[in-house]
Amino acid sequence: MNFKDFPVSALMDITSRPEIVFTEGQGSWLTDHNGRRYLDFIQGWAVNALGHSPQVIVDALAAQAPRLITPSPAFYNQPSIQLANLLTAQSCFHRVFFANSGAEANEGAIKLARKWGRKFKDGAYEIITTVGSFHGRTIATMSASGKPGWDTMYAPQVPGFPKATLNDLGSVEALISDKTVGIMLEPVQGEGGVNCATPAFMRGLRALADRHKLLLICDEVQTGVGRLGTLWGYQHFGIEPDIMTLGKGIGGGVPLAALLAKAEVSVFEHGDQGGTYNGNPLMCAVGLAVLGAVAQPAFLAHVQAAGAHLSARLTALSAELGLGPERGIGLLRALDLKDEIGAKVVNIARDSLPGQPGWADCGLLLNSPRPALLRFMPALNVSLDEIDRMIDGLRIALRLARA
Ligand SMILES: *Cc1c(COP(=O)(O)O)cnc(C)c1O
Repeated sequence: MNFKDFPVSALMDITSRPEIVFTEGQGSWLTDHNGRRYLDFIQGWAVNALGHSPQVIVDALAAQAPRLITPSPAFYNQPSIQLANLLTAQSCFHRVFFANSGAEANEGAIKLARKWGRKFKDGAYEIITTVGSFHGRTIATMSASGKPGWDTMYAPQVPGFPKATLNDLGSVEALISDKTVGIMLEPVQGEGGVNCATPAFMRGLRALADRHKLLLICDEVQTGVGRLGTLWGYQHFGIEPDIMTLGKGIGGGVPLAALLAKAEVSVFEHGDQGGTYNGNPLMCAVGLAVLGAVAQPAFLAHVQAAGAHLSARLTALSAELGLGPERGIGLLRALDLKDEIGAKVVNIARDSLPGQPGWADCGLLLNSPRPALLRFMPALNVSLDEIDRMIDGLRIALRLARA
């Protein structure tokens, strides 16, 4: 089939998309409308924790769909009860509110913190966030985000999100006032380009929060659910936040997100928070299947081993081709290309590998979050062979891009 035969113009043109229509996915591979295959190191934007269409998700959907899809969040349902219990048993938190997207979970975290501030901190409402952060695309989460240009895009912003600098404790402390209720950050800034908080910074934030009676909120939409090699990102840093948000990986590809909080912070009263699809049994059944797989110690050991392998292979490739350093934690990694050829490499890897030795009719999907940077977010069950294959394709694409 020809791309021209797809009537795509009925879709709002909200981003530049390649002329490819994906029709199937299995594990680390996607197939397009022409039958061309792609090794996928984007995975729905760090979403498909178990790869494309994993059997456990297929089975969970097939088992739950004929039973019960949505009774309304005004009633209890079994999968949401089970998933909330699994999440609290496996984390430092005591209460869960389910949502449908990362932005919505973060909106919930902001509301919860403001409510807590009204109740326990004299109406304090400001949440300190970081430059370069990404918390979602609703108006409030855009305001919380420290993405360049977003302060004016849909002005006026929601007030109350002063920006500090990641890994600069003094910049956080300087913003604390009697209006401050919390600090919100990604343990690793994902969209900002895989900028890792240091353990010392995270411990310093915990101490600052304790000293000033502030809530520490971790946006783990990208870092949670095994991505960093620990079940939750905060475990890597040896601290406990008061609030954590999850999205992306928790649904393994379906829309599921969650807001988790310690008991003493869970101050929502009846009517304060809700949503039509929140905690629906169909998505929660999938969350149970994903978490059941990812929380296994052997699975997390694989993520750590695969992350170490990816790191070593990227480091070696960088030395071979004279690129900058690689960075990241677990399977959220980035490579500094030193030159602003990220978009070019992405296009070549996707469209021009077919015909190159070893690639027959296959392409490679990569992401360039910044002009001189590539980000790698494969499925958490990616094999070491698939990582080697990606490195091979990346080497070819880099050579072609620099030729
Ligand atoms: C993707 C992302 C979000 C937004 O999630 P959506 O599901 O797109 O709303 C929020 N925070 C972080 C850290 C993310 O990576």
